Amino acid sequence: MSSHTGRAAVFFGPGKPFQLKEIPLPEVESDGILIRISLANICGSDLHFWRGDAPLKLPDDGWIFGHEMTGRVARLGAKVRTDSLGRPLKEGDRVAYCYFYPCGRCYACLRKQPAACPNKVGRPLGPSTFPHFHGAFAEYYYVNPGGFVFTVPDELPDDIVAPVNCALSQVIYGLHVAGLRFGDSVVIQGAGGLGVQAAAVARDMGAACVIVIDQFPGRLELARAFGAHHTINLKELPDRKERVARVRSLTDGRGADVACDFVGFPQVIPEGLDMLRFGGTYLEVGTISRGVKVEIEPSTLVWGSKTVVGVIQYDPWVIPRALDFVVRTQDRYPFGKLLSHKYPLEKIDEAFAASEWANRDGTTVTRAALVP
Ligand SMILES: [Zn+2]
Ligand SMILES: [Zn+2]
Repeated sequence: MSSHTGRAAVFFGPGKPFQLKEIPLPEVESDGILIRISLANICGSDLHFWRGDAPLKLPDDGWIFGHEMTGRVARLGAKVRTDSLGRPLKEGDRVAYCYFYPCGRCYACLRKQPAACPNKVGRPLGPSTFPHFHGAFAEYYYVNPGGFVFTVPDELPDDIVAPVNCALSQVIYGLHVAGLRFGDSVVIQGAGGLGVQAAAVARDMGAACVIVIDQFPGRLELARAFGAHHTINLKELPDRKERVARVRSLTDGRGADVACDFVGFPQVIPEGLDMLRFGGTYLEVGTISRGVKVEIEPSTLVWGSKTVVGVIQYDPWVIPRALDFVVRTQDRYPFGKLLSHKYPLEKIDEAFAASEWANRDGTTVTRAALVP
């Protein structure tokens, strides 16, 4: 590899192998930052795209995707001197960063809701479009001008930092938006990467009762290691009504203050709504695929005074808090276990296939990572 190019795994659509391409490094703008990626995780939403769960319009030259990652500053724009907290930033520093860019010029941004900005994630872009490196499955990633970037504490290994800018920040922000408070009870549907970290975050936010639901014993065991007080195995309790009754009995007959979908299949939503107490809040994060539907009974929301909140991304303030959280709790929770397999970039097809398989048979593979 010459120092003027970098490799990227380009995606041409579901069912097609990735193509490894050598791509010119972008001319770094005065406010931009080029990152040399050290670790890029395969997130559940990446699997949705790869699998073809929803229609996706890709450019002719393919798409470089992936978003859960960390790396070092390779080239700093001439005007960039600090990270987003004003701390000195130089080439070679390890960083965590947002992969989305609130536009600052729309109604949501004006209302100070950057996570709700409709323009914060652009259309899929291929390698021929500047700045060429648009996603995590590559040797480089370009943080656009105005992007949020944060230096990483030395004591955190890359394995722990990589999930911070997606899974961990997502659950912290989601529970924040859902209004989880000291002493609350929370139901977490799904013990994948997001679900197990949500258990730990809920504990740290002061939840008195954390209940995690999944169908695989290994994942539920991990959820307990991440602070879940109770787990419910779908296979041991196959009747939905019995599961709802179990949650009620674990919450003094009331139901949970907060319930969260971290599953990714909308069929779990009506059950989660039933598990809420009167006045409770349902956090929807899992279902990102457009077009999928589920039937709910709206009167249960009305009579139950229930709230539903959807969260697709987090506000940038979450990343430094997420980093603080892992520094504070890395001896308490087994963050190292979240990442189970590592592959070189050229084995990306194998890495996706292994992640897909793991999700089906429930081995405790929560994340596979690429080391580009
Ligand atoms: Zn993700
Ligand atoms: Zn905006």
